[in-house]
Amino acid sequence: METQSFSISLPKNPSITVNLIPGHFTTNNAHTNNYLDVSVLKSNTAVARDVAREIAIPYLSTTLVDTIVCMEKMEVIGAYLAQELVQEGTSVINTGNIIHVISPLSNAYGNLVFPDSVTGRISGKNVLLLIATISSGRTLNGAMECIAYYGGKLAGISALYLASNVSVGAEIHPLFTSEDMPGYKLFPTSECQMCKSGQKLDAIISSEGYTRIE
Ligand SMILES: [Zn+2]
Repeated sequence: METQSFSISLPKNPSITVNLIPGHFTTNNAHTNNYLDVSVLKSNTAVARDVAREIAIPYLSTTLVDTIVCMEKMEVIGAYLAQELVQEGTSVINTGNIIHVISPLSNAYGNLVFPDSVTGRISGKNVLLLIATISSGRTLNGAMECIAYYGGKLAGISALYLASNVSVGAEIHPLFTSEDMPGYKLFPTSECQMCKSGQKLDAIISSEGYTRIE
């Protein structure tokens, strides 16, 4: 695994930067030639606040939001996003509203569920879905099914990264797309060129980060 990484900044706000770390990585359903590191965006509160401001823009004057559902450790950004959406402003549609920020659990069968005590935040509510990276669409589809199952009305989907080949029949607002990082590729495990050429796996990717394989 190489130690060199490449930074990609958001043109309209260069403080928002993600890193690509080259290597041979596996997720639970695919292999990739880079680790897309968005952790600073999620955990550095100053950056997360800037990210939330950018994410809020398409919804500020148009979209009622009762609940923000966070996937993949997006809760810090979710909290700042709620703050952005309820700010004072003549064209701000959610001014003064209360927005809840919640995350589903994964049950023993791998399905996303909400405890009974919080389903009232979803049922009949306008739900904005916040997700870190959309590469295969699998996590996104699971989250959309979960929100529909509990009777939520999907008000919008925002992501830090969206692969351009993903289509779910709903509009997605990404900060970065695969056009911003042409070298970054995800492969079905059976079609991974690095595996075919005998290159050993470097690390396992989870929503928390990556873990090296010794
Ligand atoms: Zn591989």
